Amino acid sequence: METQYKYNRATISESVSFIGVGLHTGKTTQVTLKPSVDRRGIYFVRKDVSPGTGVIDAMWYNVSDTTLSTNLSNEFGVSVHTVEHLMSALRATGIDNIKIEIDGPEVPIMDGSAEVFVKTIQGIGKSYLAKPKEAIWVTQPIVITEGDKFAILMPHSVPQVTVCIDFPDTVIGSQCYSLKMEGDNFADDVAYARTFGFSEQIDALKKQGLVQGGSLINAVLVDGETIINPEGLRVENEFVRHKVLDAVGDIALAGVPVIGHYYAYKAGHELNNKLLQKVFSEPSSWSRMNLKDGEDEFSNIEDMHVDNYSELAEKPLDAVSVKKIASI
Ligand SMILES: [Zn+2]
Repeated sequence: METQYKYNRATISESVSFIGVGLHTGKTTQVTLKPSVDRRGIYFVRKDVSPGTGVIDAMWYNVSDTTLSTNLSNEFGVSVHTVEHLMSALRATGIDNIKIEIDGPEVPIMDGSAEVFVKTIQGIGKSYLAKPKEAIWVTQPIVITEGDKFAILMPHSVPQVTVCIDFPDTVIGSQCYSLKMEGDNFADDVAYARTFGFSEQIDALKKQGLVQGGSLINAVLVDGETIINPEGLRVENEFVRHKVLDAVGDIALAGVPVIGHYYAYKAGHELNNKLLQKVFSEPSSWSRMNLKDGEDEFSNIEDMHVDNYSELAEKPLDAVSVKKIASI
């Protein structure tokens, strides 16, 4: 069935709810995913605000804050915080249309990963619409830099996400991870990776009104070379895998799948949103079309591989041209 309907837009087969605390607001909310066949794609509806003011499209141009999470707001100032893990699950499971009702300001953090969202959606299954699925094919490199941080989208015949992070003098250190967004790769290798934080920052963040709901059951807490959580890590490089998860969720705010190689060094939610702003300000660098037509047109697209990404991550981007990245 997946193969037969690969080129159709998909929604969830039936409604499902999650209840939990928000990582930053500390507020407990119920979020309900509902099948949707309308033209809006993926959108949130705040049920606890005045009727007619609670609809927020899950789109890059509605991103209003990227401090430790990706938050969306609409024209009425109504917002939903920390959408990125749920968005990554929707992207990874191939959901194009869905109504997400929520009775408070933040998507529940659950266990800090996207695993429960992915497994639940996979368990429920999808329904297919009589509408073609669209995607964006990157045809020219799109680059955003900030100091030594960068995020790039490069032409690639399949969606791929490569992330490198660097937290010196901590148990994290330097880590790189690359994921091809095909089949169950995301569900198997990334969905379970939890968010993380640093113990020395907790007090300051709490004073800023952040991480009010954070705890060892929904985040990995790092104290220098030590992991505070008694259960330890789920996998050695859980940190960078979580950054891949975040990137998938952030880039899902393009509204349709982006076919290309996302490559980032020390990037976060802010740079990811700036990358999408750049994408949509450079329409000559990509093509948007039906998945079927795009696969035909771009089947021979010249891949810009980053095979030796750890070598690249050691250099500031301004010392490496995009051309060189393509051939590294
Ligand atoms: Zn995250």
